[in-house]
This record gives sequence, C-alpha cells and structure tokens, in this order.
Amino acid sequence: MVIVDSHTHLYDMKKGYELPADILPVVAGYSHSSNRKAVELREQKGYPIILGIAPQTAIKKDIERLDEWVDFIRQNKPNGIGEVGLDYKWAQTTKDIENERIVFERMISLAKEMDLPIIIHSRNNPNENDLPKDAVDDILPLVKGMRVLMHFYSGTAEQAEKIVADGGYISMTHMRSKERRKVINIVPLDRLLVESDCPYVGKSPESIREAVAYIAEAKGLDVETVGQATAANAAKFFNFRL
Ligand SMILES: [Zn+2]
Repeated sequence: MVIVDSHTHLYDMKKGYELPADILPVVAGYSHSSNRKAVELREQKGYPIILGIAPQTAIKKDIERLDEWVDFIRQNKPNGIGEVGLDYKWAQTTKDIENERIVFERMISLAKEMDLPIIIHSRNNPNENDLPKDAVDDILPLVKGMRVLMHFYSGTAEQAEKIVADGGYISMTHMRSKERRKVINIVPLDRLLVESDCPYVGKSPESIREAVAYIAEAKGLDVETVGQATAANAAKFFNFRL
C-alpha cells in the first residue's frame, strides 16, 4: 500500500535522505527559489508538486518581483497553487498584512485562471496587538467556491465543519491536541489528508505514519483503511494517479 504525504519540502531535507518506497510525496514550494527546487525534483523523480508564494515570503522578500514569480508558476503547470494564504503570526505591521493580501489575492486569481486547486497556509495572531487575529475567518470568504485544501490545519473544529460543508479538504500532521482530535472527529474520512510538512513540522515524510495512526485511533478505524483513504483523497484532490 502506498501512502501519500500531501505536503513536504523534500528539497530542504538533508542530502542523502532516502524516501521509503511506500510513501509518495507531494512537494510544496513557498517562494520563488523553493518553487524552482520543487520543479527540479519533479523532473528527477516525477513527484506531483504544488507551487506558490507563501505569506512568509510576501513579508520577507521584495514583492516587486511578483510578476516574474507568477510567470514561473504558470509555465511550470503544478498540480495545485500552494502553499499560499495569510499568516497573522508572522505579520508584525499593517504593511506586512497588506503585502500578504496582495500576494494571496494574486495566487487566488492564478489558481482560478489555471483551473487548479488551492492549498492554504493559515496561522492566527497570538499577540496582544491591534492587528487581525483569525486568519482562517479572513481566508474562507476569499476562496469560496474553489477547490480548497487546508494544509497543517490549525483552525477550530467549527471552522473545519464550515470548510467541509463548502467542499474543502483538511490535512493533518502527526501533531496532537484536543482541538485537532475534535477536527478529526468532525471531518469525514473522505475529506482528510495527511502530511509531514517536513523538515519543518515532521522530521521526515515518515511522520505521516503517526498522522495516519492518530486519525485511525480517533475515528476507531484500522490503519490500512485510513492510509488508503487519505492516499486516494490526495490523488483525487491533486489529480494524479496512485
Ligand atoms: Zn509547508
């Protein structure tokens, strides 16, 4: 059985890392340079990829070059546009928020133009300041009607319910919490994916085995059923064959 890691930054793993034969990774970019690395990996290994400019990049880099970055994504025909979204944890000023929104709106129109699904990064603002707090609440109206996957989902169970009702998908890492367990219970198995987000969240794609086990345990299913279902959901969402 092949299981799918629906979100990896495999090009950032230590040199010499060998992926187990039973894991298929979806390689995600977040910046122009990482998008290029994802395309290289596809050329070498044939992995499905998603390309996008993430909110972190919208803050850190000079977005004057956005046109050039968008052209690269357009030319390289990814399986989806991502990771993109709003990160209110990283944003420190209204200018940061503005830049994040400019880039995110551009990514939304690119996904619509290319008729591709969109893979969302969202993080709330944990700080005591006047900047916006809830990224998921601000993202949802912008992506209404699109094919949406919430990557490394960190919203509430109530928000997850809304996303699913609108046809969206939710991707879980191996990380556990009370709220995440509620999310797993509320989201039907045919809308759940697993990911490592390695090497930043999971150490390697192998951490999806724990994510699969977590879902199996919370839903009272066996590991094979969850492994197969999450792989099939990923293949359907990203439009590739297992
Ligand atoms: Zn990521």
